[in-house]
Amino acid sequence: MLRAFFIALSENRSLRHFAEQTRAGQKMSQRFVAGRSVEDALRATKEVNALGMSVSVDNLGENVTNAEEAKHSAELYHQMLDAIDQRKLNANVSLKLTHMGLDVDEKLAFDTTTALVRRAAAINNFVRVDMEGSPYTQKTLDFVHGLHAQSGNQGHVGAVIQAYLKRSEADIEKLCAAGIRVRLCKGAYQEPPEIAFQDKSDVDANYVGLMKILLKSGIYHGIATHDEKMILATKDFAREAGIPASAFEFQMLYGIRRDLQQQIIREGYNMRVYIPFGTEWYPYFMRRLAERPANAMFVLKNLFR
Ligand SMILES: Cc1cc2nc3c(=O)[nH]c(=O)nc-3n(C[C@H](O)[C@H](O)[C@H](O)COP(=O)(O)OP(=O)(O)OC[C@H]3O[C@@H](n4cnc5c(N)ncnc54)[C@H](O)[C@@H]3O)c2cc1C
Repeated sequence: MLRAFFIALSENRSLRHFAEQTRAGQKMSQRFVAGRSVEDALRATKEVNALGMSVSVDNLGENVTNAEEAKHSAELYHQMLDAIDQRKLNANVSLKLTHMGLDVDEKLAFDTTTALVRRAAAINNFVRVDMEGSPYTQKTLDFVHGLHAQSGNQGHVGAVIQAYLKRSEADIEKLCAAGIRVRLCKGAYQEPPEIAFQDKSDVDANYVGLMKILLKSGIYHGIATHDEKMILATKDFAREAGIPASAFEFQMLYGIRRDLQQQIIREGYNMRVYIPFGTEWYPYFMRRLAERPANAMFVLKNLFR
């Protein structure tokens, strides 16, 4: 119930406007958001790299309502890719298609994302297309297949699959057949029972099944979770199937389970930290509270410190 409550709040425009504009709101977001500017994100990336972990940087924002906002967001990604290259950081980028203008004009979103993937390919980097709520699932997968099919883009663009969706196994089979890199996560939105598993045990069972398909595919995928059971299942399966630790990576969110991130590194696995930055942090932040409502107390205590 609390999860649904926080997800509903994440979609409230007035609260979002209020939170993002106030100093208290910005202070609250610090737990999960690296800062407001490209420089803030680069600083956090350098720190995380120094701890032996790679990074995926996300310029926060989604569901832009005009072409100008989409172009501005894409421009920040270009700056980010250039800075990563110049400063030799171990980082790629993650983006949301609705941030690239998918709701405004599909062609604009496709062209904008194509330009970013081309730039990433030119500097041997990578663009991960995040997965949003189910109204966008098919379109997002179509985009990723289309981007990947363009000459020179192979290995430079990847998708995200959510284990709570019942369709995910079929989607993974198609992505793997095309040679596309996948980030596997549980899924962060509120989805109806017709299309999504509702019980944690069912989501977890599907996650483990999908993880096995990914690891067996021979493609370098990302296993994104803070769930120790999922991590253990992945390590066990890799060991049993003779899949080396270098053949995949674990991924976690900035500010969550830093202890576990370091432990995984010490054990010799690859770990990538997803670093979000920007002024439009509210929906992302609320989804993090939805995953663990106890975070709300932590955040409030921090606010009054
Ligand atoms: C790198 C990365 C990228 C992601 N990209 C997407 C995406 O593109 N689309 C999408 O829908 N979702 C995305 N997610 C979010 C994901 O779908 C889940 O909502 C989120 O990871 C929580 O699920 P979990 O696997 O950690 O397991 P859960 O079962 O939710 O949690 C297991 C344990 O992990 C810890 N934990 C989990 N969340 C938190 C938190 N917020 N704060 C503190 N502890 C926590 C707790 O100890 C909890 O008991 C991404 C997640 C990661 C790590």
